[in-house]
Amino acid sequence: MALLPRLSATVGPNWRRPARTSLGFLLRRPGLAAFLRAFSRAMASKQEPQAQCPSPAAGAVTSYDYLVIGGGSGGLASARRAAELGARAAVVESHKLGGTCVNVGCVPKKVMWNTAVHSEFMHDRVDYGFESCENKFNWSVIKEKRDAYVSRLNTIYQNNLTKSHIDIIHGFAVFTCDPTPTVEVNGKKYTAPHILIATGGVPSRPPESQIPGASLGITSDGFFQLEELPSRSVIVGAGYIAVEIAGILSALGSKTSLMIRYHKVLRNFDSIISSNCTEELENAGIEVLRYSQVKEVKKTSSGLELSVITSAPGRKPAVTTIPDVDCLLWAIGRDPNSKGLNLNKLLQSLLAENLPIDFLNTNKIPN
Ligand SMILES: Cc1cc2nc3c(=O)[nH]c(=O)nc-3n(C[C@H](O)[C@H](O)[C@H](O)COP(=O)(O)OP(=O)(O)OC[C@H]3O[C@@H](n4cnc5c(N)ncnc54)[C@H](O)[C@@H]3O)c2cc1C
Repeated sequence: MALLPRLSATVGPNWRRPARTSLGFLLRRPGLAAFLRAFSRAMASKQEPQAQCPSPAAGAVTSYDYLVIGGGSGGLASARRAAELGARAAVVESHKLGGTCVNVGCVPKKVMWNTAVHSEFMHDRVDYGFESCENKFNWSVIKEKRDAYVSRLNTIYQNNLTKSHIDIIHGFAVFTCDPTPTVEVNGKKYTAPHILIATGGVPSRPPESQIPGASLGITSDGFFQLEELPSRSVIVGAGYIAVEIAGILSALGSKTSLMIRYHKVLRNFDSIISSNCTEELENAGIEVLRYSQVKEVKKTSSGLELSVITSAPGRKPAVTTIPDVDCLLWAIGRDPNSKGLNLNKLLQSLLAENLPIDFLNTNKIPN
């Protein structure tokens, strides 16, 4: 999330001078400016296709005190706090209010987690004296209830914004070429002295050029669209999303493998957590494929066929095949969700203005 300054003509004559506490002077250091220019060029090549810069001539501009791009956890919390403090705020959201957490993250994940916990309890029930218990699991029942719950939350979020007198602008925000940072949404323009970019992230996927057939796999977003429990799942990744989804699928009865590049999962966590979690995943029946990576994915009549290379230290790399996979899930990290925002254009105009910005991505222009 980044706070963007407004290049307002209304600010005083010294508006370009950074406040004494600002790190803004760093921008004038050749190294940093060169870095930002290189960054800008890199973004231009990475972020293709960049949106066309909408015509500055189009229409009137609606002004707020605070404009938030992205109605996820960060954007909503920030807009509501700003409104509490008396700011006239608006949130632009291109998809569903609540963002990743509510729609394809924490919330539906925790519903599935609880479903898995029920399954584990049922597994142990006889030891606790419960002899008869119907334990046939129906994935579509929980999916329907989960989707309905998420949908209720979307409405609650909308109502909360309305109660807080925050405008909701539905659509995709794109920065325009206007000299004052301005966004266009569905042909209308909006600006504010402070614009918060809270557009979150999207799940990463390996490119086809690196792993042929990679696009046959899904990501955590696709997990929440599954209409039935996969019978054979391979989850690629060692982070918490990979670990949680592998645990859920396995507990619910899918034969599950977790493919990791090194020896343990959650390597960035405390080493005891990392070791114990790896061990417990195996105790729970998940096959942990260490030092392994997918080389190629093919579609066959019985599902996906994965060609896997395993390069354990001190051993010759070995290639094996996993057949009949009906759920290949990439959980290999997340990319910033900034494509199409026209950030490159915005950065160029900030550089052109030699606007002081600091490493917290804010400026210290009095306004
Ligand atoms: C599977 C999974 C499980 C998770 N579990 C947990 C958990 O248990 N606990 C936890 O704390 N965190 C969890 N997280 C992480 C959590 O979901 C994120 O940290 C959080 O949602 C980030 O919030 P955000 O506001 O930064 O971004 P987001 O929630 O992603 O919101 C960004 C919003 O911006 C919108 N947007 C993007 N571009 C534009 C544009 N140009 N114009 C208008 N709107 C735009 C998007 O549609 C989106 O709604 C999980 C994530 C995943 C994927």
